[in-house]
Amino acid sequence: MRLRADASLQPDVIVIGGGGSGLAAAIEAASVGRRVLLLEKAPRLGGTTAWSVGSISATLSPQQIACGIMDTPHDHFEDMPKFAAHLKGTDNDDLRRILTSEVPTTLRWLMALGVEFFGPMPEPPHRRPRMHNVVPNSRAYIAICARRARRLGVDIRVDVRATGFIVEGGRVRGVRASLKSGESVEYRASGAVVLASGDYSASPELKREFISPAAATIEPVNVYSTGDGHRMATDVGATVINGHLAHIGVRFIPPPRSSIAESLPAFRPLARLIRIAMQRLPMALLRPFLMKFLVTVLEPAPNLFAAGAVLIASNGELVADWNDDRIAALGAVDDHRGFILFNNAIANAFESWPNYISTAPGLAYAYLSDYRRNRADLFHSAPTLEAVAAQLGIPGNAIRASVDAVNAKREGAGDRAPKPLSAGPFYLLGPAKLLITFTDGGLAVDTSHRVLDAGGAPIPGLYAAGSTGQGGLLLEGHGHHLGWAFTSGRLAGRNAALESVSPPR
Ligand SMILES: Cc1cc2nc3c(=O)[nH]c(=O)nc-3n(C[C@H](O)[C@H](O)[C@H](O)COP(=O)(O)OP(=O)(O)OC[C@H]3O[C@@H](n4cnc5c(N)ncnc54)[C@H](O)[C@@H]3O)c2cc1C
Repeated sequence: MRLRADASLQPDVIVIGGGGSGLAAAIEAASVGRRVLLLEKAPRLGGTTAWSVGSISATLSPQQIACGIMDTPHDHFEDMPKFAAHLKGTDNDDLRRILTSEVPTTLRWLMALGVEFFGPMPEPPHRRPRMHNVVPNSRAYIAICARRARRLGVDIRVDVRATGFIVEGGRVRGVRASLKSGESVEYRASGAVVLASGDYSASPELKREFISPAAATIEPVNVYSTGDGHRMATDVGATVINGHLAHIGVRFIPPPRSSIAESLPAFRPLARLIRIAMQRLPMALLRPFLMKFLVTVLEPAPNLFAAGAVLIASNGELVADWNDDRIAALGAVDDHRGFILFNNAIANAFESWPNYISTAPGLAYAYLSDYRRNRADLFHSAPTLEAVAAQLGIPGNAIRASVDAVNAKREGAGDRAPKPLSAGPFYLLGPAKLLITFTDGGLAVDTSHRVLDAGGAPIPGLYAAGSTGQGGLLLEGHGHHLGWAFTSGRLAGRNAALESVSPPR
């Protein structure tokens, strides 16, 4: 293998990863005059940040103030653990204090760059509405931050995968990487390196090591989340905290790519127009339009199952009845894929609030007609069970046997079970897949976002942000992961810049 030192580049700060935390780090380091090199292994920027729904929970926002909401970072600090009571993980109070104190600045920082938000939306047990949703979708974060980074002179290189660190005299001095051509290169930094390489939901090895052998078989949402940064850092002495925590769920597959959803997020006047329309027009009018921007994997609402819908496998067998553990049941199916089956009575009930098919928190509730109109790839219906199954190549006799068994059980259960699935038309929504949306194990870091070794001492020259630098912080509830990605990215980028030894440009 050839190893070439890329001496044409003399960055002060190297950022690994071009998602939310990496772009924030690059912008902050470049804003104080440092030369920044950002390496992204995918062919384009975005990471899991571009897959997200896009909410950020924050206090003291202009949106809260405009609504007369009196809120404080301290109340936010106190409310966050209420979301995590069910988790068997350690929390990091120091990092939670940083998040809740700094995320108000982060939200305004993003708005100053040109990101538009709708909200704040309530999300109990937050004691006040704090959820701010990006408009029109999370690709706006990437488009707007990338534009800013380029304007500040950040050297952004895609298709470059960081593979290890150059360590000399106990200090991280640079990064080894491989190019698309297979060539290996070395990049040296006069200052420091910021790891912002996301999580390890796409690494079977790390999932097996930290979570479970079963988790290792579950597909990720983002195939680039291979935990490279976790591995690179542990190779030089770092440790992972809360490695066993991950978000696993049943989600509809994403929609086919749409040019409108891809290209418009960077266009601020449009985002502003949508935000104003959302404040003034009835949601019923806007929903069909907003649905076009929901480019991510949406989660079927638990209410649909509570009403009596069931999960069916591609071969027609029953995967999960209304009250079964759907995650465990779909985990036992070979391809982890299923279809949600229900009949006319349930369909009619899922056309209006509070019965929605899925939600993008705070942005849009999608009802059955929204799926019929905007997600034809997922929506299937026919007067009979056999006819709807035939549309998907599901054997009619197998699905009939599954529904007969479900109905027999329900008839014997009296009022405790939903009504039998007898009268058509019948509906199949899907495929829905068992997916790992993200993992929560992050490198141990200090309050300056320096990566710590097993003894708790900072590894000189190495910072981490976002999922990679989560440091044992529990981020349950909506809008805390992105809040952490942009906040820790900003702060790690700034601190890394201050380690630079060359004079500012
Ligand atoms: C469906 C979905 C919905 C979500 N919705 C929300 C939400 O509404 N609110 C919220 O707060 N959170 C949400 N999240 C979580 C949130 O998106 C993530 O926690 C956050 O985006 C992580 O940001 P990051 O910068 O750490 O990682 P990423 O955005 O994943 O960025 C990491 C980047 O590093 C790159 N990379 C990896 N390895 C290397 C390497 N070796 N060399 C170079 N580059 C590398 C990756 O390709 C990637 O581009 C959601 C997640 C999903 C999947």
